[in-house]
Amino acid sequence: MNLDKLIGRRLLTKELDDKSVKDLPFVNTMPAMIKINGEYKCMRCDSLIDKGTKTFDPIRKKYFYYCDNCIQMNRVDSDEHLFHIKEEDVLREAPTDKILTWKGKLTPGQEKISNELLETYQKREDLLVHAVTGAGKTEMLFAVIAQALKEGARVGIASPRIDVCLELFPRIEEAFSTTDAQLLYGGQTEDYRYTPLVVATTHQLLRFYQAFDLLIIDEVDSFPYAYDPSLNFAAKNVVRTDGCTVFLSATPNAQVMSDVASGKTKRTILSARYHKHALVVPKFIFSNKLRETINDGSIPRSLAKNIEKFRQEKWPLLIFCGEIKLMEKLEKILNKKYPGEIKSVHAGSSDRKEIVEEMRRGEVKILLTTTILERGVTFTGVNVIVLESNHRVFNSSSLVQISGRVGRKVERYDGEVLFIHDGVSEAMKLARKEIVEMNNLARKERLIG
Ligand SMILES: [Zn+2]
Repeated sequence: MNLDKLIGRRLLTKELDDKSVKDLPFVNTMPAMIKINGEYKCMRCDSLIDKGTKTFDPIRKKYFYYCDNCIQMNRVDSDEHLFHIKEEDVLREAPTDKILTWKGKLTPGQEKISNELLETYQKREDLLVHAVTGAGKTEMLFAVIAQALKEGARVGIASPRIDVCLELFPRIEEAFSTTDAQLLYGGQTEDYRYTPLVVATTHQLLRFYQAFDLLIIDEVDSFPYAYDPSLNFAAKNVVRTDGCTVFLSATPNAQVMSDVASGKTKRTILSARYHKHALVVPKFIFSNKLRETINDGSIPRSLAKNIEKFRQEKWPLLIFCGEIKLMEKLEKILNKKYPGEIKSVHAGSSDRKEIVEEMRRGEVKILLTTTILERGVTFTGVNVIVLESNHRVFNSSSLVQISGRVGRKVERYDGEVLFIHDGVSEAMKLARKEIVEMNNLARKERLIG
């Protein structure tokens, strides 16, 4: 068996191609579950085991429990073990080739963060980079990744979102073309191999252990990472005791901010976009009886007027809706008026990727969506309408991310964000306040004109 699979990772017996490696002196064995106060706990994901998982194994003629929290990464049983080879037992030579093959140039704002990252990495301190939407986060990471690789370190870049990983990996490969890198996500067919540079979904971190000298987690406030304590546990476990973590977010959540408040994590802010123009500030538009009007088969006046205006200007339009039912009704009505121009997507749409591509190519002019497209997508020149922006699904982070879809490209660095509502919510006020404050900060720091 290729022992590389075990370096800096923890695998179950069923994940070993050759079971005899278990007996090798440098392979560490640890129980996959431990019993504390009569309760089993999964050592891979830190979850307490549900007693309902008790199962009888007719072959071994005994009962066992299993972890249903991390079951998607192969089942952990109560009598299983995890096998691991320590990362530091591997002799790694520092690379001699030029590591950073990226030829671009950083903006002054990006450069400031890039230098801070180098400094905190040297001290092995954790850092939260709070960078506005469209700041150009990836480029700011290149210098610190290059420095770590130069020292012979192993670097992990993780995101809860598979689409972020898929988009990031080719850019990382291009920027570090002399370094062996690998992309890991659920359901892929390619075999795992040891690489000094790893891009992975946060779920894949569950298989690593004390592996990375530098771990970077992008979109740290997004689903599922922000809502799953076992992924937070995994992220801590994969960083070596003398390593550090960089958190990236445009909208850090309470959990990340509490680590900042307690001094555990430092924070730095990048208030400006890479193109040095301000973030677009949302406009609030009051509209009475929005829902009733759509349910009656008509388009609310405020919506109709703005759709027509954006169509005349020939820019694409994203309309965010709080509920699928209402979105589908609106789609029907709009389709009658503008046949062939409208489509919609939500989490359950099987053709989501294709529709997003059609929107990118300009074949779809108006795309109706749920919060599923609140982040991770860029449509050049797009305007945004949030319908029922006071709906409870739109929290302030969501509204900041949605507003951040507009003006991302230098070809059209402005545009419009309209919050159509029937009563201003706290989240709307907070989102607008955050955007205005970031613009003020960017002006003060002279990062935007
Ligand atoms: Zn587990």
